[in-house]
Amino acid sequence: MDLRDRIRDIPDFPRPGIVFKDITPLLLDPAAMGEATRALAVYARARDAELVVAAEARGFIFGAAVARELEVGFVPARKPGKLPSPTVSAEYALEYGVDTLELHRDALRDGTRVLVHDDLIATGGTARAVCDLVRQLGGEVVGCAFVVELGFLEGRRRLDGLDVHSLVVYDRE
Ligand code: AMP
Repeated sequence: MDLRDRIRDIPDFPRPGIVFKDITPLLLDPAAMGEATRALAVYARARDAELVVAAEARGFIFGAAVARELEVGFVPARKPGKLPSPTVSAEYALEYGVDTLELHRDALRDGTRVLVHDDLIATGGTARAVCDLVRQLGGEVVGCAFVVELGFLEGRRRLDGLDVHSLVVYDRE
């Protein structure tokens, strides 16, 4: 199965000039959803991941599914003010301005082997922030896994030195 067939381009969303990669057709198809989840889990298992940390909000969909497949825990990285217990935070650059993600301070122990996940890597800022959060808590990022990679934006460079795996890579818009 080619997962690419289940991802559709929505031009000019959310703003003019952006081509949004919509994964909702993939989520609607249980066979595609299963294949994508298993493929991400195969990668994570080979890296001996003990925990999955994923970015709000679309990262939660496959992040939780992969954690279940691996039978490991799942940690949500959330926007400011959403987590009820004490947090650590990391800022990342947006096209205009900055945003922040947070993790619970007690989300992971020193030395935990972590898979970082988001549905899509574009410029890499979001994934980089999640990796920074994991490291602040003493975790080891053993891999970063995405369903979709916009390769032409070279987001991998922001994850310098980390192992990066994507199921579907677009080399141009
Ligand atoms: P970045 O931090 O630039 O790597 O952006 C990644 C985050 O923004 C992910 O959480 C994606 O869901 C979202 N995102 C960025 N660009 C797109 C796009 N073209 N289509 C769908 N989602 C996107």
